[in-house]
Amino acid sequence: MPDIFSKIVIFFTFVDVLNKLILSFMSTFRQRALNEAAMHGNERYFVEDRPISSFFGVNVFDREKMRRYMSKPAYEAVVSASEYGTSIDRSLANEVATGMKTWAIEMGATHYTHIIEPLTGLTAEKHEAFVTVKNGDVFERFSGTALVQQEPDGSSFPSGGLRNTFEARGYSAWDPTSPVYILGQTLCIPSIFVSYNGEAIDMKVPNLKAYQALNKAAVSVANLFDDAVTKVTVNIGLEQEYFLVDEALYKARPDLALCDRTVIGHTSAKDQQLSDHYQGTIPQRAMSFMKDFETEAYKLGIELTTRHNEVAPNQFECAPKFCEMTKAIDQNMLLMTVMQQVADKHHLKVILHEKPFAGVNGSGKHTNWSMQTDKGVNLLSPGKTPTTNLQFLAFYSSVLKAVHQHNALIMTSVCTYSNGFRLGGNEAPPAVMSVFSGSTLSKVFDSIMKMKADKSADSGKESIKLVNSIPEIFPDNTDRNRTSPFAFTGNRFEFRAVGSSVNVASVTYVLNAAVAEALAEFRARVDKKMKARIKKNDAVMEVVKEFLTESQDVMFEGNGYSAEWFEEAKKRGLKAITNFPDAYKNYLTKDSEALFVKQGILSKAEIEARYEVLNETYVKKLQIEARVIGDLCLNHVIPAAVRYQDLLIQDITGSQAVFKAESKDLCKAEIDTYRKIAGFINNLQADVEQLVEARKKANAVPDIAKRAKLYSTEVMSWMEKVRYSADHLEMLVDDELWPMPKYRELLFF
Ligand code: ADP
Ligand code: MG
Repeated sequence: MPDIFSKIVIFFTFVDVLNKLILSFMSTFRQRALNEAAMHGNERYFVEDRPISSFFGVNVFDREKMRRYMSKPAYEAVVSASEYGTSIDRSLANEVATGMKTWAIEMGATHYTHIIEPLTGLTAEKHEAFVTVKNGDVFERFSGTALVQQEPDGSSFPSGGLRNTFEARGYSAWDPTSPVYILGQTLCIPSIFVSYNGEAIDMKVPNLKAYQALNKAAVSVANLFDDAVTKVTVNIGLEQEYFLVDEALYKARPDLALCDRTVIGHTSAKDQQLSDHYQGTIPQRAMSFMKDFETEAYKLGIELTTRHNEVAPNQFECAPKFCEMTKAIDQNMLLMTVMQQVADKHHLKVILHEKPFAGVNGSGKHTNWSMQTDKGVNLLSPGKTPTTNLQFLAFYSSVLKAVHQHNALIMTSVCTYSNGFRLGGNEAPPAVMSVFSGSTLSKVFDSIMKMKADKSADSGKESIKLVNSIPEIFPDNTDRNRTSPFAFTGNRFEFRAVGSSVNVASVTYVLNAAVAEALAEFRARVDKKMKARIKKNDAVMEVVKEFLTESQDVMFEGNGYSAEWFEEAKKRGLKAITNFPDAYKNYLTKDSEALFVKQGILSKAEIEARYEVLNETYVKKLQIEARVIGDLCLNHVIPAAVRYQDLLIQDITGSQAVFKAESKDLCKAEIDTYRKIAGFINNLQADVEQLVEARKKANAVPDIAKRAKLYSTEVMSWMEKVRYSADHLEMLVDDELWPMPKYRELLFF
């Protein structure tokens, strides 16, 4: 007969085996994902080894192909439409469509679609087949009407109340300023999207309108220096930052799968402290992915030039060479799609979210912005002679004026819900606007502002000697300031606050509108002075001086991350953005209304609709995350913690049975841990309940802006509390029991 001691041992061995069995069963969620991830990355992928020039642009209906597939008049009509915004005659549209169709079918396309950019911030597409059956005859058809205009319904796109569902019609219309291309087997036609009544319900329309306004004003200022200029284009280069995560691990994290962001998760002991990832050797797995998506991008005519590791582990960047704005933005939207498609083949997920992981750097889409004349002159590149310098100063001071005048609005344009986790941290620019010019330019500006204009100018004498005293300007390219949201980098501005996931049109329409307004004002002031018989160059210089003086407050050369700057900015009257729904009101001010309405960019109703959509999107994104965090905590974290408590209690009771009073000392750590876990579980559950209550309270508020405000304060703060307990539990619970991949697993291949 076994004695009581043996009985206990047998009992606990049995329990232990059973437990292990159950555990091996239970812990498979994360373990299976880890096992699967370990198998990934060994695959070999086809690598295109032909020179890039041999396949660059094969999938784009570019000018060379247009010439081959269209008559001269049709070709010229499209070129003129893309260059000068002229409309294409219906009769020619048929021919253009036939040319496109012939090419597309030769390339294996079966469908066509108008690619639109609705207020979701994503692209949208509704495919139509070319094939038609008529009286038993089968043929491929694509008419000029189908090319020029579609009616994709789309009643479910956000419109901010501009469309009632009973008049849900929305029209998409071809935007010939952006190239047509083939993706997969679909001919894709970049398009604008407007409501039945012609109101803008997409990102493209206001962007194109602001561009027109900018072009007009910029030409009028450029003509002061060269009257042959007929067009000014905006060039942009978009640096795209992103994270890569193994697909199996991504899918094992409901928060990543649903929100593209981890709403809980304790930091990894090692992440970016050593700066060892930044511009380090690109990991093989990432390299293989990069080569693959770059190949697809090249075929689509996207001129990618740069690739490197970014600061956070498994964070990377790619950048194309800058090009004309509309094309650059549409290509960036396409690039994001292509990256995601190619990643699937590599068992990877591309995370474009601005802050997928707390505690490490987030991702931006630095927007390099400049203006260029049709004579090839970069208007933000200081020349070597006083006159070209003068032109540079005119444009530069107008940008300063624009950014100063609309500083809060321009900053608000980057305030998407997800970018909020990034702005203001010491990794991204602070949420207060300032312009960095570098020491060389700052000195030039100081000297200009200190110069006194001679009053005798009124008599028409050439008495203002400013022009002659402009020093030669060679901005120092190495003079950089990573802490500035809007930094001059030698021949362009870099707007660094833009988030990685956005459609940049949502930012450029604001920036371009503001610059258009400033340039128009510049020209008007110069004209006025010239009427008062001040010589042109002197008049320009006077306005430069006025603009610089009026914009001084937005110029800042120091550390934008410092607390002192925040104080200083406040004194200068620059509005720091601390709450996004509050910031959205910047769209509704008299100043903003004038900016958009007077320049014909958006009507008052369209501005209000956008304001509504911003608040609505803010609420919905946060609502989804709040639900996900609640689910994770109640259904994943707490059950795992309780299972570990079970183990602990078995250990403690076993010890008590064997060691009696001594077990108190022996099991001190287990008892302590049990208590701590109990504390966090209780807090967590209570906080999740509070979070639900906060959501309910906010949901009951009918006014969308007020609801968004409540979400941004109360709901958000409960989310933070919930996360605190969940992340502490992750530190306490047996690693084997933890159900979701941890940061250290997600962030390193
Ligand atoms: P950084 O050192 O700032 O990270 P990158 O090389 O990653 O620079 O990206 C710089 C981006 O700026 C590229 O897309 C580049 O083509 C673009 N760029 C360069 N010159 C201009 C310009 N004049 N206007 C607009 N964009 C420009
Ligand atoms: Mg870069």
